[in-house]
Amino acid sequence: MARDAARIPMENQTDSRLSLDAYVARSWENLFDACTRCGKCVEACPVVPFVAELKQDDPQSVVAGVLDYMVDQNAPIRQSSSLWAKQCNGCEACIPACPASINPRRMVNLANAEIARRTSPTPHLFHKMSRAIRILAAMQLVPADVARLLRPRKARDVDVVFYTGCNAIRTPSLLFNAMSILDALDVNYEVMGGPASCCGIVKSKWEGDLSRGGRVTEQTLHRFGEFKPERVLNWCPSCQIHLTETVRDYREVSFDIDHITKYLIERKDDLRMRFNTAVNLRVLLHTHHGVPQVGRDVLELLQAVPGLTVVDVVEEPGYMCGSSGADRSPALKQHHRAITLDRCKRPDVDAVVSLYHACHRNLCADGSTHGFKVVSFTELLVRALGQEPFADTMEPFQGRNDWHTIAREAAPLLEENGIDMDEEQLAAALPEIFAMAEYKGGLCQFAPDE
Ligand code: SF4
Ligand code: SF4
Repeated sequence: MARDAARIPMENQTDSRLSLDAYVARSWENLFDACTRCGKCVEACPVVPFVAELKQDDPQSVVAGVLDYMVDQNAPIRQSSSLWAKQCNGCEACIPACPASINPRRMVNLANAEIARRTSPTPHLFHKMSRAIRILAAMQLVPADVARLLRPRKARDVDVVFYTGCNAIRTPSLLFNAMSILDALDVNYEVMGGPASCCGIVKSKWEGDLSRGGRVTEQTLHRFGEFKPERVLNWCPSCQIHLTETVRDYREVSFDIDHITKYLIERKDDLRMRFNTAVNLRVLLHTHHGVPQVGRDVLELLQAVPGLTVVDVVEEPGYMCGSSGADRSPALKQHHRAITLDRCKRPDVDAVVSLYHACHRNLCADGSTHGFKVVSFTELLVRALGQEPFADTMEPFQGRNDWHTIAREAAPLLEENGIDMDEEQLAAALPEIFAMAEYKGGLCQFAPDE
């Protein structure tokens, strides 16, 4: 499988027989040896001032509480350490703060997997998420478009795999726009994504099932390899952090895994040559700290769009909006969102530009309350290419709670897509499906063993 193994930096010696449990155990041994318990990562963490119990504890004890929990299988976790891990939004502020060159975000992500293994806060999450995604896709798309996103492809040689991940499929217009951009650039690519090609984070980090999570990751990496791509281009930052940071080097691969925006920046001159339509808008770009290069790259892409003016950039904590990112530290998010909303309402802003799927939905909800328009950066690039963006098929459902009406409206497409749910069943499930409640342990009707 390996075409150029040297392209993947190795922290650990990659061993194709190593289970993810063993890989994580080895990672913890390394962390234990390297971490001096200095507490600098906690001092740098922006969540801390917003959580009273965390603020009151000393940073060294917070870190020591995580490490002690990992060595003693029977020890309860220190309250402040638990809160630190639980409210980690993936912002990466701790990474440059560590004098020992440990990646504390990775340490906390691995600790969260262990906490999930011992406490099982969101059982059956993968199953619930899979059901919710299939239903949402089937409510919005004709079968051919559902198949484009969810049907496993026959392997063929491509230059690029466009990897959508799972949850972005809830907001399919952004993904189809991204594909239109790849088409305009004449990229030889194939699409992979959906629960059948999960990166493994749901099983590993949220369910705490490292054995199964490791197998899911391995299978997906293997599937990528069958297409012999030079690059796998991620859409989802959760997949990006999981595959290239949390379980990096778990399996040797023959391709680079990058965010799609990195590739688009490399092809910026080709894109600029193809831009033929002015997009006369003044926009505010909404970005996140967690994977900061994506925000910088999108800003550069937008600055290349004819007619478009980026009047301001607003950066929020976490690596993405939503329950796996910024929403994990609610007080911090609330503080920054109030600042963001003020800037979104500026009279010289025609629209707010979103980066990711979760940000798009989150900002659209705020936009409908506070009266501002939200567009994805993909939509602006497609417009500049002289094409019509894919319709936002989620938008008609946004902000509504007349669940029976929505269930009736969705019935024809659901039937076309072979989803057998009656109106009552669907109306009962929709509030949780739209709230992504599976991350909080909800959507129990999709959990077979509960
Ligand atoms: S990634 Fe951000 S939120 Fe998480 S521990 Fe590091 S600084 Fe804190
Ligand atoms: S900053 Fe680094 S060395 Fe210090 S406690 Fe955090 S992870 Fe350990």
